[in-house]
Amino acid sequence: MQIDSPPQQQLDLEQVKGIGPARKALLAKLGIETVEDLLFLPPRRYEDRRHLKKIADLKEGEVATVVGEVTGNSIQRGRRVRMFRLRLKDETARITCLWFNQTYLKNQFEKKDRVIVTGKVRSYKGVELQFAAPEFEVLKEEDDVQDPIHMGRIVPIYPLTEGLSQKVMRTFVYRALESHLNCFSEIFPVDWIKKNNWMERKAALQQLHFPKSESEAARGRERLAYEEFLVMQLGIFMRRKETDAEAEGIVHKNKKHLTEKLLENLPFDLTQAQARVIEEIKQDMESNKPMNRLLQGDVGSGKTVIAMSAIAHALSNGTQAALMAPTEILAEQHFWGFRKWFKALGIEVGLLRSDMSKDEKSRVLRDIASGHLKCVIGTHALIQKKVQFKNLSMVVIDEQHKFGVMQRAKLRQKGWQPDLLVMTATPIPRTLALTVYGDLEVSVLDELPPGRTPITTRWITQTKLKKAYDWIKGEVAKGRQVYFLYPLVEESEKLDLKSAVTMYEELNNKVFKQERVGLIHGKLKYQEKEQAMADFKKKKLDILVSTTVIEVGIDVPNATIMLIDNAERYGLAQLHQLRGRVGRSSLKSYCVLVGKPKTEEGKVRLKTMVETQDGFKIAEEDLRLRGPGEFLGIRQHGIPSLRIGNLVSDFQLLELARKDATDLLNNEKMHFTDWYKVLNLVQNRFSQKIQLAHA
Ligand code: ADP
Ligand code: MG
Repeated sequence: MQIDSPPQQQLDLEQVKGIGPARKALLAKLGIETVEDLLFLPPRRYEDRRHLKKIADLKEGEVATVVGEVTGNSIQRGRRVRMFRLRLKDETARITCLWFNQTYLKNQFEKKDRVIVTGKVRSYKGVELQFAAPEFEVLKEEDDVQDPIHMGRIVPIYPLTEGLSQKVMRTFVYRALESHLNCFSEIFPVDWIKKNNWMERKAALQQLHFPKSESEAARGRERLAYEEFLVMQLGIFMRRKETDAEAEGIVHKNKKHLTEKLLENLPFDLTQAQARVIEEIKQDMESNKPMNRLLQGDVGSGKTVIAMSAIAHALSNGTQAALMAPTEILAEQHFWGFRKWFKALGIEVGLLRSDMSKDEKSRVLRDIASGHLKCVIGTHALIQKKVQFKNLSMVVIDEQHKFGVMQRAKLRQKGWQPDLLVMTATPIPRTLALTVYGDLEVSVLDELPPGRTPITTRWITQTKLKKAYDWIKGEVAKGRQVYFLYPLVEESEKLDLKSAVTMYEELNNKVFKQERVGLIHGKLKYQEKEQAMADFKKKKLDILVSTTVIEVGIDVPNATIMLIDNAERYGLAQLHQLRGRVGRSSLKSYCVLVGKPKTEEGKVRLKTMVETQDGFKIAEEDLRLRGPGEFLGIRQHGIPSLRIGNLVSDFQLLELARKDATDLLNNEKMHFTDWYKVLNLVQNRFSQKIQLAHA
């Protein structure tokens, strides 16, 4: 069955009383383009104005709201801070409000203005009560304490933008509810609403903004968040059904000669997790559905072998395979690794880079097109138009979080429904992964190869650097190798940060005179990068000074120390990846973070790094610090952004929606025809047209 897109209801904001072109433009800054956007904008919080207090009744320590008349104000200039004081009175007493360093507030108040303030009451020297930095609204003359919108009720507090006051915003929402609430009638089946005790849709919107009580507000929000999740899940599942149904994939028979030989030749045994994942992939490859699998495994868990095995499996069918990596250095490393292990299998491996010589490139392109070259490794260069495969049947994407959904799709389009394996070391909680990457199967490598010793991580400041250098000298004398990481390639006047080039000179000429120091960064020519990396691998260098070009994938097991300078500059996921360059053998490894974070969040990041090495824990913390949208790259995955639901804190609702979406599509407990309004919404939200492969 196919549902035609109904005309999308795009209610113009100017239909709402009080909104004209100027204010419409302001609202657009908040991402509000339609009446629907306005009504689905959840308040940041609420303020209980049902019980206004008299100033004389205020008690120290309580959060309270009062209305008072401005009697005066002053600015007090201290040596370090400036303080703005606003004096208010009501018929019972007087009180002062204080704000630090916000002297611009002065212009917002005039004598005799009536002001409503909410905040914590504190005591000044035990004699006088004050409000410290309270929230406030100036009430216009016509404002009455009986005002139905802003007073005597629980009022919503919205996110704002410059030029838009809380009161104006609140009025818009109020008016929009008055005039347009009827356009947002129920979309769930009535019986179902009753049975599950959901709040009805219009009531939910009303309660979201102007609730009778905090608990009603929560119920309203919950209903709307659930609706949003359900639509998201249905969209993801339907998109997947469509791809599944669309075309037959390649049945990769497993002619075992290649995979078995590959695994026999490896110098180690597979971990149980690796064996399990290889089996999961094998099942997918042997079926006639195109494989669509995400492999999550922490740094160092051994994903490369999995890719090799999958590619060998494909190649045993005489077709072609490609592996795409996000950096040239990583592509190069994979090239050497694959070449080494595939040689014994009689398979030639090719490398495609963006900066190859013309001749070299056209030769590789020709070999790819003729099908002569079976296994190709490369960077983004692989997705260029010029690259034409003869019969590409297997695509592997390493460090997939570095690519967008389009790049993934582009490489895939070079074959006829090839099997796809995407790998990432940025783990996210499994259920969340299933939800967000709902169109992918997920495999998890939850075990590290045996014999790894935990990496010891220290956080130090510049003052301890010298000591660290001395200790590093000792480690180098024992035969260990070291990475030094800096945030910039070259010195910059604007940023007070260390650069790899300067530090290379300093370390090489002054600090580590006996040791062999090398340099690598993104601006070097390809050959120079390759040389530096090869020298480090062959132990011709003791120390490699680098930028984040080595962030992902690089594997030099004898390197045991990673020193990251200006560590506060990096995000958690990035720090974890960088640290993952060491601890790749049974040798004891160390990570030294040098930094002095200015923000609380920066401190939490470094502390988390010291405390744990578990990629999943780090991911959770990262998720908490950055919020799910940013973390998961939701837009990248073609999923509409969420307005009300929060993927982390509303997790149970999300699970419920997931379950209901599954039931609905399986048509078990829910009748499809009752749900057409929801399905229309899905159609509208997901830009791609979704055909329901469902009769
Ligand atoms: P990542 O998952 O970070 O891509 P790699 O595939 O680069 O990890 O593997 C990290 C290191 O562990 C490599 O040196 C690899 O050869 C080694 N390795 C992988 N699997 C095993 C195993 N089962 N036993 C021992 N070492 C392994
Ligand atoms: Mg890797």
